[in-house]
Amino acid sequence: MYKIVRKKELNPTVTLMDIEAPFVAKKAKAGQFIIFRIDEMGERVPLTVAGTDKEAGTVTIIFQKVGFTTKALGELNEGDYIRDFVGPLGKPTPVEGKKKVCVVGGGVGCAIALPSARGFKEAGAEVTVIVGFRSKDIVILEDEFKEVADHFIMMTDDGSYGRHGLVTQPLQELLEAGEQFDEVLAIGPVPMMKFVAKTTQPFGVHTSVSLNPIMIDGTGMCGGCRVTVGGET
Ligand code: NAD
Repeated sequence: MYKIVRKKELNPTVTLMDIEAPFVAKKAKAGQFIIFRIDEMGERVPLTVAGTDKEAGTVTIIFQKVGFTTKALGELNEGDYIRDFVGPLGKPTPVEGKKKVCVVGGGVGCAIALPSARGFKEAGAEVTVIVGFRSKDIVILEDEFKEVADHFIMMTDDGSYGRHGLVTQPLQELLEAGEQFDEVLAIGPVPMMKFVAKTTQPFGVHTSVSLNPIMIDGTGMCGGCRVTVGGET
């Protein structure tokens, strides 16, 4: 059983929880995920590790309450327990050896972009972070991004906070101004990641995105998560 030691509502639909899971906390790296089950009959849900506190033995998860299980998890409180919390799973984001990177986060995808931005920073890179939200009232993790970013750009679709426009706009401007990124990492809705890739392509900048296929066993063995891109699986 895994105890919920902290719960914080980040916006009306997005919740952060710290879960006591010392073995996961000890090993998890940026970009890896866990699978949780609330109870024995529960659905298995994968979530990216948003952060760890190795000393306290806790793992931070951030989730949007969109389906049956995430809504049920959102009903639990500090002091409550969940049944299973398995991880770390997946391959860590390759953060080593980069001088300059740009991490682009869109909406809820920012929960996943943050640990990678932190990972790049800890590995010695200069990190530019561009985040985008529909409006000011749903902005999450601004202070946390500012802590790890050398340059931070906030965008909102309606102009209610930061700059007015989509995340691809400042990215295009930076690239046109001659900014040389070793890597651009984009995490957010699929159209956003598509347009980030289209923005960087003419400049030949190595670009990674975070695909969210169906996940079943969480190890890659069942094949449910396989994706074919450009004829390659
Ligand atoms: P959203 O639709 O509000 O978009 C967030 C930001 O992305 C926008 O503010 C904008 O700056 C940018 N964006 C969106 N469409 C764009 C486009 N066509 N071109 C350029 N920029 C664009 O996002 P949301 O509702 O907060 O996020 C929910 C989506 O994020 C869901 O589809 C969810 O599946 C996805 N998501 C993906 C990941 C991942 O790992 N890729 C993780 C969490 C959530």
